[in-house]
Amino acid sequence: MTTTHTSDLEHQTTPREEDAPVFEEGFTPLSQMTVLKKNGRYVAVAKKNIKPGELIEKCGFVVLPYKSNEPDSRSKLLANFLPVLPCSCDACKIVGPSLVVPSGNLIFVQYHNTPNTEIKFDTSNAIIELRAATAIHKEDELFINYAGLYPKTELEQEEMFKVTDEFNAQL
Ligand SMILES: [Zn+2]
Repeated sequence: MTTTHTSDLEHQTTPREEDAPVFEEGFTPLSQMTVLKKNGRYVAVAKKNIKPGELIEKCGFVVLPYKSNEPDSRSKLLANFLPVLPCSCDACKIVGPSLVVPSGNLIFVQYHNTPNTEIKFDTSNAIIELRAATAIHKEDELFINYAGLYPKTELEQEEMFKVTDEFNAQL
């Protein structure tokens, strides 16, 4: 009786294996951009001269439980300024890929149809890399276009903007 009790107690106080911290190689968040206020809203500009292909920002991201082309207009509104997780499965071709929130300054990079940056996802490690698409000078504003992240089908960026404009008109 006593033996069983002691054994139970031992079992409870022995740290379980998953409680021990296991450190693996991660990454250091990096940002070569700074945020300025332009015409009353925040925009991202380069902190230094950046060569084509050079890393501008490395940050984490969280996936939202919303798809960019859900019937809910709020999802389409969010899709105007948030990146999406690239995916071309059949479901994503219809309801759109999942919206993601980047943890870095990427959130301040404005949309442009001729962007000077490129976004790359490392989905297995939940990391975003933003690289220069062209030569960028110190204090140049940074621009992005998320269209390339969408499945190459009827879901075109232009369509999304059209829907959102209608939505905005209702407000
Ligand atoms: Zn998908």
